[in-house]
Amino acid sequence: MKRLILATRNAGKITELHAILADAGLDLDLVGADAYPDIPDVKETGVTFAENALLKAHALARATGLPAVADDSGLCVDVLGGAPGIFSARWSGTHGDDQANLDLLLAQLGDIDTPHRGAYFACAAALALPDGTERVVEGRLNGILRHTPSGTNGFGYDPILQPDGETRTCAELTPAEKNAISHRGKAFRALVPVVRELVG
Ligand code: IMP
Repeated sequence: MKRLILATRNAGKITELHAILADAGLDLDLVGADAYPDIPDVKETGVTFAENALLKAHALARATGLPAVADDSGLCVDVLGGAPGIFSARWSGTHGDDQANLDLLLAQLGDIDTPHRGAYFACAAALALPDGTERVVEGRLNGILRHTPSGTNGFGYDPILQPDGETRTCAELTPAEKNAISHRGKAFRALVPVVRELVG
């Protein structure tokens, strides 16, 4: 069975991509970057989600000699001109402090009324081959930002993003409901034909 490596240590992402590939009838041995612990993490020096996803996928493909998938994602707020964007994970200054990031964003938007609180989650998913071949696709989840957080599922900015057509925030959706509409789900599903073409 052909092996495909996903540039993440997040078990949830591996499960989600695995299910999407299986649904599409692609029988691949999908492993996470944990399977290759000696490979150092890549610096995300790109200025777009696509650049960062490609950087991570190429580094992993080169280091392992295997086809590699990587994703990069974040929240883009209309009234902030697309910020936090690629800085979503470190908006408050501390990388990965979800609560501080969310609190700072809510404070910044304190005076902004609902009609102007449009935002979207964006995800770029990249496939790179050891020979340098590359493809990148994107997915979005559009919505509005609540004034106060609601819900306990998910992570990051989920408690304040209410998807268009929903009455609940992402953190009030079940994981399956969120995967069905999420930016990451859309990007991974868009990657399926690319994986079929280049990996088999
Ligand atoms: P990563 O690309 O998965 O590392 O995500 C980068 C950052 O974007 C996370 O730390 C979150 O702040 C934000 N983010 C990305 N996707 C989501 C999501 O589905 N829900 C909430 N926050 C997200």
